[in-house]
Amino acid sequence: MWPDNERQKIVETAMSKRRCAVPMAFRVPGNTFGFTLVELLVVIAIIALLMGILLPALGRVRRQGRKIVCLSNVRQMGIALQAYMIDSDNRLPPSSCNLSDPNEYWLRILAKYTRQGLLLHCPDDKAADFVDWDGPLGPDIDDLRWSSFALNSLLDPHCAFNSGRYNNVINIRKPMYCIYISESPSSWKNYDHLHPDGWGSLTEAKGQVAWDRHEGTSNYLFVDGHAENLKIEQTWSWPGQCYWYPGYAPGWPPDD
Ligand SMILES: [Zn+2]
Ligand SMILES: [Zn+2]
Repeated sequence: MWPDNERQKIVETAMSKRRCAVPMAFRVPGNTFGFTLVELLVVIAIIALLMGILLPALGRVRRQGRKIVCLSNVRQMGIALQAYMIDSDNRLPPSSCNLSDPNEYWLRILAKYTRQGLLLHCPDDKAADFVDWDGPLGPDIDDLRWSSFALNSLLDPHCAFNSGRYNNVINIRKPMYCIYISESPSSWKNYDHLHPDGWGSLTEAKGQVAWDRHEGTSNYLFVDGHAENLKIEQTWSWPGQCYWYPGYAPGWPPDD
């Protein structure tokens, strides 16, 4: 045991050493604990460094999350498409190309099966004023964005280029290699399909597909109902890879 006066001396020595490091401005009266200015700056710098590392990673995770939500929506549109085809003798629903009644458009038809107008929106499509295809359709739909997606008109029974040949899936050689729905540019209003028959270059293809919506990629629904996230170069390069023409499939000669 230390004698009382010895212990008091040791404690006072320790306290005086500790107090030397604490400037008056940071000392709480009656409390010997505190931070020096340098310590405080170091802590702030470490927090700033951690935020600098974590925030971009967090942003990347959120973008990935939105891409997956969109892909899941596209997959559910594929399930709705399969349900419609069972009811319609394997026929594909039409776009607005050469049709005037919006109740016959594919957006209206798929919304009836999904009961979820929101499935037709991509979370990374920042456009406002979408049409609710599951609700009553007013005369103002021509001023609104119809959806985040567009149908491949080469599979549209009313498209002149198709001539009705591919409006039934049994005529499509490889449904798993044929794109039915893709993401459309956010600037599009009053439009629900695209025309790959007019593409002569990748630049023209990029003008009709939101190819960069998900960090250089976009989500696609194929005729067999599966959804895939791809770069546009993987879907269309001419001559060569083409997932847009129903008469073509990778490694296969054309129908004609
Ligand atoms: Zn058209
Ligand atoms: Zn999307």
